[in-house]
Amino acid sequence: MADFSVVGGGVAGLVVARRLAASGASVTLFEASDRLGGTVRRHEVAGIGLDAGAESFAVRGGAVAALLAELDLAGDIVAPAPGPAWLQPVDGEAVPLPATALLGIPADPLADDVVRVVGRAAAERAAELDAQPVTAVPASLGSLVRDRMGADMLDLLLAPVVHGVHSQHPDELAVARAHPGLADAVVSAGSLSGAVAQLRAAAPPGAAVAGIRGGIHRLVPALADDLERRGGDIRLRTRVDDLDALDGTVVIAAPGVAGTTGTGRRIDLVTLVVEQEELDAAPRGTGLLVAAGAPVGARALTHATAKWEWLREAAGGRHVVRLSYDETPSDPVAAAVADAETLLGVPLPVVVDAAHVFWVRPAAASTVPSDVVVVGETVAGSGLAGIVAHAERTAAELLAR
Ligand SMILES: Cc1cc2nc3c(=O)[nH]c(=O)nc-3n(C[C@H](O)[C@H](O)[C@H](O)COP(=O)(O)OP(=O)(O)OC[C@H]3O[C@@H](n4cnc5c(N)ncnc54)[C@H](O)[C@@H]3O)c2cc1C
Repeated sequence: MADFSVVGGGVAGLVVARRLAASGASVTLFEASDRLGGTVRRHEVAGIGLDAGAESFAVRGGAVAALLAELDLAGDIVAPAPGPAWLQPVDGEAVPLPATALLGIPADPLADDVVRVVGRAAAERAAELDAQPVTAVPASLGSLVRDRMGADMLDLLLAPVVHGVHSQHPDELAVARAHPGLADAVVSAGSLSGAVAQLRAAAPPGAAVAGIRGGIHRLVPALADDLERRGGDIRLRTRVDDLDALDGTVVIAAPGVAGTTGTGRRIDLVTLVVEQEELDAAPRGTGLLVAAGAPVGARALTHATAKWEWLREAAGGRHVVRLSYDETPSDPVAAAVADAETLLGVPLPVVVDAAHVFWVRPAAASTVPSDVVVVGETVAGSGLAGIVAHAERTAAELLAR
């Protein structure tokens, strides 16, 4: 009889199962599908091994880097190419995102690179609003920015960035989840722009995200091998519907089980492998976020061969571009080629290969019974940094019981 049963073999389930097994507990992990990793998955496009889902992790907190070190992958952690991401505004050409901002919120609303995105009038309005005394900090990031910097700053700058990072509108994102120190910083700085300047100054130097040479998907076999080496029992193709039938303490790491909702937003991704010399110069840096109302269907584009050096080497002169969609285009590959041409500003006559995948992201859990232990995206939010840290913490709490 196992001490622990873990339901779901995504990164959250693997991390919690491995940590429990490492302490000597007997652990069985159940995965409904025929592969581990969940939203972290490898696929091949034009013979190049690529991430089909997550392709980086936030370095904040250090939980992912610490895990990779334990898995002997620390030497393969790589930084993305430096330089700002770009923004495709509603009208006109793409522009680099403001250099000193937090999730698109500027430290100086009147800076030239902010004015270029939102226009002079909106920038002046933001500066004027943000000069008012702080009375209260609203719960949602959207309300905070609308109150302190106006609707244009919210719509034109914040919303595309937040959507690109969190797949949510700022009105749906709690201030605390956007940045745990933001509310206090607004109060202590007496303005939103001052808070951003304060937090930016306190942030460690270097990129906010990192990758793994060869792809984030390498994390999955590394976790699974280590779990098995420590005696963990992995059961693929084993969907769990009846939690009472499981041994020991049950940990849910699967959206849709025990009150954690599995239905959420669908995201379509189209990966293109193209030949085009003009892309060698990375005309839009590592990629673009797209403002709602811009003349393309894509919400974001990653120029993956400009972002990751290992991938540029693996692609042998070809370019890898990935576009994401909130609404499935009727012909995803044709739409992606047309959108990529618009966003990158170059024609793409030679498409070597293309792949279309989609994911359904879970909504946040609302009704998790208090006697059930839950890890993963439904409770820790989207993103490997938060999920890994939360799964590690949960395992430590279970072991301390
Ligand atoms: C397109 C895309 C890009 C992303 N990019 C990034 C990124 O660059 N950086 C980042 O940090 N995050 C990124 N994310 C988010 C990140 O990938 C996820 O937050 C994270 O991988 C979720 O892990 P999880 O273990 O909670 O859930 P999942 O990955 O969803 O795993 C859940 C697992 O449970 C299994 N399961 C479900 N029901 C049952 C059942 N009844 N019984 C047994 N098993 C079951 C599923 O088959 C699945 O394997 C991205 C997400 C998407 C969709």
